[in-house]
Amino acid sequence: MRICPACDILVYMGKLESLKKLEREMEGDKTLPLQESNLVFGEGNIDSDVLFIGEAPGKNENEQRRPFVGRGGQLLNKNIESIGWKREDVYITNIVKRRPPDNRDPLPEEILAYKPYLARQIRILDPLIIVTLGRFSMNYFLPTAKITKDQGKVFQLNGKFIVPMFHPAAALRNPAVMDEFRATFKKLPAIVKKCSMLSKEFTPLPGKKPSQDLF
Ligand code: URA
Repeated sequence: MRICPACDILVYMGKLESLKKLEREMEGDKTLPLQESNLVFGEGNIDSDVLFIGEAPGKNENEQRRPFVGRGGQLLNKNIESIGWKREDVYITNIVKRRPPDNRDPLPEEILAYKPYLARQIRILDPLIIVTLGRFSMNYFLPTAKITKDQGKVFQLNGKFIVPMFHPAAALRNPAVMDEFRATFKKLPAIVKKCSMLSKEFTPLPGKKPSQDLF
């Protein structure tokens, strides 16, 4: 029996098993904030190159225990399909995995409390590209980035690529944001292609481990 240095999980475990174990641990962790709501762990293709990360579950997500199933989720699905992908082809989760009351923004201490679990989830999934939906998710990876200036750009971080996008709810509220949301989505297939090529050229330093902090 060996512990994987990258993910602290027994090496013989597959991704699915590791994710199930992580989910069980989260369910059992009563110190996590927002205990009054359900755990919405995430769903999708665990081998996808692309991981979408939103903010926190809302009312519908809490009821169905699935991320992005409300109006924002429908917009997300529509845009995923507009580029010829399917929702099941990607993995979708949130920074904070239980619903803040009245759909308020997640608090810094809530983001911090869920951080070790999110970091492990990302290490297990090991996507090439992380698409952040909204500023909370973007600022988890890129603390100084500004959503209006930086959405649609590609950032390299510890061997992964971060693509900030507007939150679907913001796109639903504002037609100008909707245009930019759609335009960035249209760029995703080309971004994936380019990042896959770049990642093949990239040789990590021997013995150098990725940051254990964010992922
Ligand atoms: N908004 C989010 O950020 N995540 C969800 O899952 C739903 C709405």
